[in-house]
Amino acid sequence: MAIIDLRSILDLAWPRSCFGCGTALTNRNGFLHICQNCLRRIDFILPPFCHRCGCPHFEENRHAVGCGACAGRDFAFLSCRSLFELRDVGRRLVHELKFRAGHHLLPDIGRMVAEFCPELAGKILVPVPLHWRRRWLRGFNQSMCISQALAKELHCRVCPLLRRVRHTRTQVGLSQQQRRSNVVGAFSINPSAIKKNCIAREEELILVDDVFTTGSTLHACAEALAAEGGFVRIRAFTLARA
Ligand SMILES: [Zn+2]
Ligand SMILES: [Zn+2]
Repeated sequence: MAIIDLRSILDLAWPRSCFGCGTALTNRNGFLHICQNCLRRIDFILPPFCHRCGCPHFEENRHAVGCGACAGRDFAFLSCRSLFELRDVGRRLVHELKFRAGHHLLPDIGRMVAEFCPELAGKILVPVPLHWRRRWLRGFNQSMCISQALAKELHCRVCPLLRRVRHTRTQVGLSQQQRRSNVVGAFSINPSAIKKNCIAREEELILVDDVFTTGSTLHACAEALAAEGGFVRIRAFTLARA
């Protein structure tokens, strides 16, 4: 009761507004910074989606593993699940978080994941690392922030088992093939984190990133976890899917 009262008092003093449209928030939809209208404009990915790459517009191909988007592509992770499509309000949400340090949106993100991807509860999350230079310039690693939001809401464990050993150019504007070669050898196991977290090789790991575009970054991360760490059950989760 005390918390609710405090919230109401804070709302009176500093009215909250929707990050998507700026409307003052008076509704109580359970989310702190998004209105009902904007919430409806997020294209959440619901089943059926490709069991391998998470693509929502997939056509089942009985003769191939995966869908039209991922058939013939080899991934070092078993599957990837994304929360929403990278467009409209979903795109703004990612943008706000990544480029405008929208950390106040993290509790809402945690709630969305809890609602749409409850299967992530209790999992071991491995954030995709940034190179220290980019991390320093941005001030935070968005994948780590997303992981922590999930951990809070879904009682997951965040284990930063990877480090970025090579600075890479941005993947934006690169072809599928270029993206893959751009991140080759970019990631390595963080030996001290492995020791500290004491994770058995059979444990399932969930790589966490902000956006799935071609899956190249997640593939490179999973390769490092498998080759250097000996992990065998690696899946992935991203906030959005391009
Ligand atoms: Zn709105
Ligand atoms: Zn697929």
